[in-house]
Amino acid sequence: MDFQLSEGQKELIAHARAFAEAEIAPYAAKWDAEEHIPRAQIQKYADVGWFGLTLPEKYGGGGYSALDAILIIEEVARHCGVSARIIVDHNFGAVGTILNFGTEAQRQQVLPAICRGEKLMSIGMTEPEAGSALTDLTTSAREAGEFYVLNGRKHWITGAGEREYTLVYARFGGVPGPKGIGAILVEEGMPGFTPGPRIPSLGVRGVREGELWFDDARVPKENLVVPPGSAFRNLMSAYNGQRVGASAVALGLAQGAFAYALAYADERRQFGKRLTDFQAIQFQLADMAMELDAARLLIYRAAANAQATITDRYESSLAKIFVSEMAIRVTSGAIQLMGAEGYGRHHPVERMFRDARAFTLAGGSAEIQRLGVATRVLGRPLPQH
Ligand SMILES: Cc1cc2nc3c(=O)[nH]c(=O)nc-3n(C[C@H](O)[C@H](O)[C@H](O)COP(=O)(O)OP(=O)(O)OC[C@H]3O[C@@H](n4cnc5c(N)ncnc54)[C@H](O)[C@@H]3O)c2cc1C
Repeated sequence: MDFQLSEGQKELIAHARAFAEAEIAPYAAKWDAEEHIPRAQIQKYADVGWFGLTLPEKYGGGGYSALDAILIIEEVARHCGVSARIIVDHNFGAVGTILNFGTEAQRQQVLPAICRGEKLMSIGMTEPEAGSALTDLTTSAREAGEFYVLNGRKHWITGAGEREYTLVYARFGGVPGPKGIGAILVEEGMPGFTPGPRIPSLGVRGVREGELWFDDARVPKENLVVPPGSAFRNLMSAYNGQRVGASAVALGLAQGAFAYALAYADERRQFGKRLTDFQAIQFQLADMAMELDAARLLIYRAAANAQATITDRYESSLAKIFVSEMAIRVTSGAIQLMGAEGYGRHHPVERMFRDARAFTLAGGSAEIQRLGVATRVLGRPLPQH
């Protein structure tokens, strides 16, 4: 076991840090206020090689490890959680599903376009009546000649209406339970497929959260990525990498808030002393540093053990639970450390707190992750899981 980063990884971090400080940090508050990151900005992340970092070079990817990608995502999230989420979506999640379970034709069609930033990708699982209980989803896919015809509604889909591709989880042939669920690639503009309204949110505002509507949507059969049957396990295993990516976003947000509040507290004087001269503050800083490092180790372990973007379920869930809850504590603590100034919109810490709040929900709630961990601890499947 080696706890040292390689020279190459240190260079990746240094480059990401410099890029994020110059090209992201100055604009993050504006994107949050305008609730939009311009496509030209997103294109920069593709141009610098951050989309498909983890994909093989033959598909236009960078051939980097999952850990390398995590290091970059963490750096970006220190300044802008939404930019970091966008990078996660174009390295893990649906992209990983297509890499690992799609056909060769799908890989050739989708992955190079993702790496170039020409196409962006969403993942459409959650429905109004099927959130944690994903296997209850009702969006249906019926065979009709050369097409599948989709009907149903998704909500809380990140990038809905802004991205060209969506990997949609649907129920095929009316088969109940997980065996009926497969995933199909739906493309912008396909007949019968329309984005629904935006869902206004507390944080992560630079990307659109919204609904997706399928009204006799016709999707060519060759777009079927994961067929129904016994493949639901594959769908969920491909999603574990997304959870580790999301954890790195939460970690970066917490680290960013910590660093900002620390610098403030080291300058701010009350009772004739710097805030950091008070032992109560010193203990608070020590606890924050400890939580950040513990979180980092859980994430790095899950990422270092990943195979082609797929991470272990148990390791991913442990990271996701701990980091998402830690990020709420640390970003909230950073506000406390700065007093009223921390609460002000002229500092980034309140935005980081709002953004961090998403991660005990997005990507599978902390409670559902705990069920996964308990399944491993008990060594048997649990009825509600
Ligand atoms: C910012 C954001 C982005 C998102 N992006 C996407 C996306 O891109 N694609 C997508 O498909 N989805 C997305 N989601 C949806 C997300 O995956 C769901 O919110 C999540 O799975 C929880 O489902 P729910 O919101 O319906 O909560 P519910 O399932 O209604 O649960 C409500 C609460 O009850 C708890 N609970 C439920 N069942 C149990 C149980 N058995 N035991 C204990 N507690 C339980 C939950 O943990 C939660 O705290 C996003 C959500 C957010 C907030």
